[in-house]
Amino acid sequence: MPTETFEFRVEARQLLQLMIHSIYSNKDVFLRELVSNASDALDKLRLAALRDDTLDADVSDLHIDIEADGEARTLTVRDNGIGMSYDEVAELIGTIANSGTAKFLEQLRQADEAADAEGLIGQFGVGFYSSFMVADEVTLVTRRAGETQGTRWSSRGEGTYTLETADEAPQGTTITLHLKPADPENQLHDYTSPWKLREIVKRYSDFITWPIRMTPQAPAGDDGDTPREPETLNSMKALWARSRDEVKDEEYHELYKHISHDWQNPLETIRLQAEGTFEYQALLFIPSHAPHDLFTQGYKRGVQLYVKRVFIMDDCEALLPPYLRFVKGVVDAQDLSLNVSREILQQDRHIQMMHRRLAKKVLSSVKGMMTAAPDRYATFWREFGPVLKEGLVTDSENREALLAVSSFATTHDAAEPTTLKQYVERMKDGQDAVYYLTGESREGIENSPHMEAFRDRGIEVLLLTDPVDEVWTDAVAEFDGKPLRSVAKGEIALDGDGEDKPAEEREKRNEEYAELLTWMKEQLGEDIKEVRLSSRLTVSPACLVSDTGDLTPALENLYRSMGQ
Ligand code: ADP
Ligand code: MG
Repeated sequence: MPTETFEFRVEARQLLQLMIHSIYSNKDVFLRELVSNASDALDKLRLAALRDDTLDADVSDLHIDIEADGEARTLTVRDNGIGMSYDEVAELIGTIANSGTAKFLEQLRQADEAADAEGLIGQFGVGFYSSFMVADEVTLVTRRAGETQGTRWSSRGEGTYTLETADEAPQGTTITLHLKPADPENQLHDYTSPWKLREIVKRYSDFITWPIRMTPQAPAGDDGDTPREPETLNSMKALWARSRDEVKDEEYHELYKHISHDWQNPLETIRLQAEGTFEYQALLFIPSHAPHDLFTQGYKRGVQLYVKRVFIMDDCEALLPPYLRFVKGVVDAQDLSLNVSREILQQDRHIQMMHRRLAKKVLSSVKGMMTAAPDRYATFWREFGPVLKEGLVTDSENREALLAVSSFATTHDAAEPTTLKQYVERMKDGQDAVYYLTGESREGIENSPHMEAFRDRGIEVLLLTDPVDEVWTDAVAEFDGKPLRSVAKGEIALDGDGEDKPAEEREKRNEEYAELLTWMKEQLGEDIKEVRLSSRLTVSPACLVSDTGDLTPALENLYRSMGQ
């Protein structure tokens, strides 16, 4: 196939412009990204070989090689992993397929300040493309394991790239960077310096479970005959198997970035070491921001599963409940088969136990965060509250724990959300329920006629605006012995002057107004069930109320839109 030249799509070109003009100050991280991709490729090949013993691939010495040439000013990162087919290169490297990147660019278009742009890169990361921060030309040669034909991709990052087939490509992927001149003032270091490379690998990639080797450069005048011994730069120690005090926070953070593809530090790191008959180690992370696709159908949830240090699968959804789908991390089990499949995992009794224990562990960490680090808890709740509340519906076993770590907007304080415990502590004498109202916005709820009587009497009401609030408030009957009650549903008894007045008195008032009520009922006909006198209004003349068991209007809409 002849060499073909392609134009980057608009978004890719914009992204590359950013990289070339390197708005991101810490340029060292390009190497972390390349090593991370290489490590993924080695994981994938080992797994593919395990699953398919006819695969024509060499898995005897899987590793990553880093080779620098100070004279030619090139840096090469090579792996003998899974590699890519021609089509994969075209799709994965030639365009920007990653939806996170698309989102990144969308936000970037709205942000014009350079500082904003840097913040955005820090949030989304740009993987392979970050090599253009340090290189003015990048060449990638790759061969997919099991295939004979290789592919060469090359670009100067300026609008076009070339693609061609390559005959003599070794298994895996080789990426060669033609380095820009060093410019230490702008954080552009000499990336051919063995000292610098050693430092970067140690800092960002020490935990990578594959050897990262550096072959020293041949001394000047050497004709290449002297054997050069490669040096292994990383310790390859699995962080989850090491004791807490042996590991620095930064090391945990780098592992998090590798597995989550996030460029920001996690909010919380959670360790669990289970001993006994079914032994496993877990290292879980709560991100500091919700991914943009958390509520979409295709969201890949779950943590990585290892068996005795061998990577088995990404997105292992059997290990955590769906409402914890934002949690990232690694679980390494000692006694599972390397051939374990997703189907088997769903059935396995040990996995189910592990699932329960991990869910409890995450919830107790959040609980700990509430008291130890209220700011971090506030971030957690802002980012993940809407997801966590799904658990109130689906996980009755952990309902108490979930209610304990939940907080809600309230009429008590315009800015600070409240926990249910705090709400109950503030309850007025004689108040026997936790009141809430659901709706689309805080403002809408506050202006609802249902709120009038509560506002006048100074009774606190929770203001629930997430779609899931419609659902969980139906599933959860009470908190701490106090019933949860919607101010828009059924008859509500407020401090003895309304619907809870002695029966004779209500009877009398009803008689007084009987004619009016009948007339209204006739006028409104089929649209309503009943017209009642009410004490819940102080300003508005009337409001619509549903029966306690009925769907709220918003939920009715929700179900209708789902075609039910
Ligand atoms: P991400 O790693 O977040 O998916 P990258 O830009 O780093 O994004 O890489 C894009 C894709 O290109 C990867 O998901 C992978 O499929 C492919 N890729 C990159 N580097 C390699 C490599 N060394 N070996 C095999 N595939 C690779
Ligand atoms: Mg990557």
